[in-house]
Amino acid sequence: MKRRKVLDTITPYIAGKLKPGAIKLASNENPLGPSPKAIEAISQSLQKIHIYPDSNCLELKLKLAEKHGLKSEQVIIGNGSDEILLFITGAYMEKGRSAIAAKYTFPEYTFSTYLFDGNMVYVKMDNLRHSLEKFYSKIDSSTAIIFLCNPNNPSGTYFSDRELKNFLGKISSDILVIIDEAYYEYVDAQDFPNSIELLKEFDNLLILRTFSKIYGLAGLRIGYAMGSEKLIGDLNLTREPFNVNSLAQLGAMAALKDQEHVEKSKMLNRQGKAYLYEQFDKLGLTYWPTEANFVFFRCGLNRDDVFKNMMDMGITIRSLPVYDDSLRVTIGTMEENRLFISYLTEILKSSR
Ligand SMILES: *Cc1c(COP(=O)(O)O)cnc(C)c1O
Repeated sequence: MKRRKVLDTITPYIAGKLKPGAIKLASNENPLGPSPKAIEAISQSLQKIHIYPDSNCLELKLKLAEKHGLKSEQVIIGNGSDEILLFITGAYMEKGRSAIAAKYTFPEYTFSTYLFDGNMVYVKMDNLRHSLEKFYSKIDSSTAIIFLCNPNNPSGTYFSDRELKNFLGKISSDILVIIDEAYYEYVDAQDFPNSIELLKEFDNLLILRTFSKIYGLAGLRIGYAMGSEKLIGDLNLTREPFNVNSLAQLGAMAALKDQEHVEKSKMLNRQGKAYLYEQFDKLGLTYWPTEANFVFFRCGLNRDDVFKNMMDMGITIRSLPVYDDSLRVTIGTMEENRLFISYLTEILKSSR
């Protein structure tokens, strides 16, 4: 068979490990689960799954447009924001063009770029922060897309409003700038960018959000992007007609209405974050202050060994090849956080 050469460059995605019965703190899901209102809306609509979903996701787009002060033509819905990454590269990437991303960030930017024959250019980070100045210095005539992840997965670090405005003001409007804000709803930092406001000024900006994280709908697969009408129009040309299923559309609309669940999730995350910082300090471990629902830390031991031990004890986290000893843990319920710390303490003790 005439397999495309590009497949040789693509490495299979390694998902957060599942172990039956284990507590999963590996993929940054909401430990409180979905909004009960979303569950209710989905259950009620099960009778109608013989009907095709709305191809245009119009009702949801109108809701999102209203929420963010945009026109519905400025919104596109995807089967997870992962799918939107493919719309982006499907519309703007080809052989001879390149994308730029941080050295340690979400791997799907590379996958989507490679799949459409693009080249990937990586930017060194400043202590796991995006340095937009370093991004700027990597731009050349082949640059088509810049992927920014804010807050960054896996480090939880962020860049500020001032840094972003300065960057966007300097670069050519021919270059598409993606800001992946999958964890936006968790952010506490006062100087975090108000990126949607910047859509008024920059036609080459696209903001990605998702229902997979604070909204607790990762299993339904639904995310969205916001940008200029022209840009969204281009992305729509690459989209399959029925890309978002009807349960996801209804679940997302119900979840949007349940602001109480979002607030509760955010409060729990704050509490868990404070607890983990305090415990990491006590254990003398290095961690990166986070604006998301996970913490990146160094344990001083082989990261894969710690990952395995933790999994045997009943919690899955993520071992990440940044340092020999680096891991990422999702902030869970307080009970889960305490259990995680007690296991980690035990692992550290038995290694001495
Ligand atoms: C989890 C995550 C997403 C969400 O992807 P979906 O396809 O919407 O589930 C996107 N970007 C980053 C950086 C993430 O961590």
